[in-house]
Formats: sequence, structure tokens, C-alpha cells
Amino acid sequence: MGKTVYITMDIDWADDGVLADTVELVNRLDIPVCMFVTHDTPMLTTFRKDPHFTLGIHPNFLPQINGQTDKSYQQTLEELLAVVPEAKVMRCHALVDATPILIAAKKMGIRADMNLFIPFSSGIPLQPFRHFSGLKRLPFFYEDDAWALEADHPSPEQHILNTGSGLSIFNFHPIHLYLNTENMERYHRAKPYYHEFEKLASFINHGEGFGARDFLLRIKEVADQNNITFGRAEELWD
Ligand SMILES: [Zn+2]
Repeated sequence: MGKTVYITMDIDWADDGVLADTVELVNRLDIPVCMFVTHDTPMLTTFRKDPHFTLGIHPNFLPQINGQTDKSYQQTLEELLAVVPEAKVMRCHALVDATPILIAAKKMGIRADMNLFIPFSSGIPLQPFRHFSGLKRLPFFYEDDAWALEADHPSPEQHILNTGSGLSIFNFHPIHLYLNTENMERYHRAKPYYHEFEKLASFINHGEGFGARDFLLRIKEVADQNNITFGRAEELWD
């Protein structure tokens, strides 16, 4: 059987203009993408009409961690599941991971999670496994912002061709795809304009370094050249 890779994205409250750019890019590449949703936006209608996309939830528990809310973690899950009732997969914002959250999510109908980031540079071959909560845990090995922070930057070719049959899940953020983020300084300069789409354009990386968008484009090229297919995330938990 040929190798399959999976593309996921955490939308992280991105501006609708940024999300529209992602939709255009995904359609041009013609690849399935699992979108982890943080908030209600008219773009959810666009995602739902577009067969490239599967929707999951990306709940934010940082307010609980930082003591900024009285809201329970169950309430955070319930509110986001009301926005994305079809979600069967979860990745928590900032990769917050706790047994009570996993158990609650399973009870609310979530079947799998992608909270576990184990980078390609670890050298550990990844596999899905069953957690005692009943969730299927799907570790992922690439994240665009983490890659930008790594000392050496393992290439898209290495990620795809040097991982044998290991589970190959990539995670991007629409903002980093839009900016083509190659280092986090670029992102921090742009961040004050996160919801001013017209202004964000002046922060785009045009050939100043190998960025997140370049990485995704290269994955597509390398996959096509090596008969590697892009899988739908739901294959991993159905
Ligand atoms: Zn996030």
C-alpha cells in the first residue's frame, strides 16, 4: 500500500480574509484538509459546502489555565460543539492536554484527538493508538510555527520520504500560510493587524525565506512525484 499523508489546520481566530485565502489555496492544491475551528464565522458555511474540508474543534483552555474565566472546561467544549456539532476530532489550542478534557470530549461525541505533537526531529515513528478515555490519539509530526522555531529545519522531503510507514500528519495555521511565515518575528510584527486584513498583506514573506506556504506547496509537489496520497482525516477514526 502506498503512503498517505494528512493535512490539518488550526484556524486560531483568523480573519475571514485569511481563511478565504486558505480556501483558495486548498482548492488550487486539491487536497483534503481537516480544519480545527476556534469560533463561529460565515466561513464555516464555505468550509461545509467545500468537499475538501472536514471540521473539528480547537477549544481554548488558556483562560482556565491563566485564571481569566470562571467557565468550566466542559462549558468551553459544549459551546464550541454547538458551533461545530458535526466535529468528531479535537485539537486543543496551545496543545493543552489533560485527562478530564479527553474524557469529557469523548462523552460529548469526539472520537479522536490530535493534541500530541512529536516533531519529526525526534526520530520517533508515529502510530495512532487507543486511549483509556476511548479516544483515538493521533500524534502529529509537523507544525508550522514549531518548525520556524527549530534549530535545524527538516525539509518537506525528509518529512515525507524518511518516515517509512509512520503516521504523517502536518499542521498549519491559515495566518502562517497567508504570511508564508518563516520566522516568528514576522508573525509578531504582523500580529497587531491580525483582524485588519488589508494591512496584513504588507507583512507577507515574498521569497525572503522558506516559509509555511512554501512548505505546503513543496509537500504537494513531493507527494505527487512519489505517488503519495493525501488522506481524509476521518479515515483515521472511522
Ligand atoms: Zn491554536
